[in-house]
Amino acid sequence: MDRYAVIGNPVAHSKSPLIHEAFARATGQRMSYERLLAPRDGFVATVERFVAEGGRGLNVTVPFKLEAYALAKEKSSRADEAQACNTLAWRGDHWYADNTDGVGLMRDLTHNLHEPLAGRDVLVLGAGGAARGVMGPLLAKTPRSVVVLNRTERRAAELAAAFMQHGPVTALSAAQLNGRRFHLVINATSIGINGDVPESLWPRRPFAPGGLAYDLVYADVPTPFLRWASKQSAERMADGLGMLIEQAAESFVVWRGVRPETQPVFAMLRPGS
Ligand code: NAP
Repeated sequence: MDRYAVIGNPVAHSKSPLIHEAFARATGQRMSYERLLAPRDGFVATVERFVAEGGRGLNVTVPFKLEAYALAKEKSSRADEAQACNTLAWRGDHWYADNTDGVGLMRDLTHNLHEPLAGRDVLVLGAGGAARGVMGPLLAKTPRSVVVLNRTERRAAELAAAFMQHGPVTALSAAQLNGRRFHLVINATSIGINGDVPESLWPRRPFAPGGLAYDLVYADVPTPFLRWASKQSAERMADGLGMLIEQAAESFVVWRGVRPETQPVFAMLRPGS
């Protein structure tokens, strides 16, 4: 039986085993999938032990995405663009690194939420690893504009500069946004499910009519960002569970060469939605 795992610290909360076990059942793939807790200073040693014991592939989560990228000898263009890796595949004598976060988000937006991205105006809140992973696939959908707004303005400027040859991306502060409205606002900060929304940093009422608020974080109750978006008159809202499932499906394709259906897994994890 081929062995796979999600590696992170912490990792106990991860829904990835449920998702991949469901994919494996539905596609008839013989594989196991577990959680692998690595010490913060022990990523490489844990990965080496895993492969020595027959491991074939890993999903990589916080805080190891940069270390995973550095470990791999072979990298996809998606991983190179993001400078980070969420998917490792063992290629017999070396690791292959991919990054399926951005393409997973695009698939959730376009395929599941029917959000047209071409010609739209998009605001990305945050300029960390997740925002970087999303930027290439987002610009490939030819939006009219992408604005990055980040607490540390320098990081937003660096992110915009790194991707400006891919499309119309700029870094602005809330004051500079000055009444601009967006069809899509993506929260790619790590304020998570318990943090406070930085109201003074974010623009008031940034949503165009019918605009979608999308949080990369997922929870069974509205997240702080989605509660804020509702107060700011966002008409549509989604959390990142769809992205999580879609990025997992892309990883499954990298490992097994088979594309699993994602809707049944979404229905399993969020019954009644
Ligand atoms: P990261 O690299 O640590 O970046 C964190 C970002 O959040 C930075 O831009 C940081 O701003 C900003 N930030 C943190 N605290 C803030 C606060 N109190 N106020 C305003 N901005 C704040 O983290 P990441 O890897 O990009 O992850 C971001 C989120 O995406 C995480 O919650 C992660 O779980 C989620 N994610 C979800 C999926 C999925 O499949 N659904 C996939 C990937 C990531 P500064 O630059 O100023 O520090």
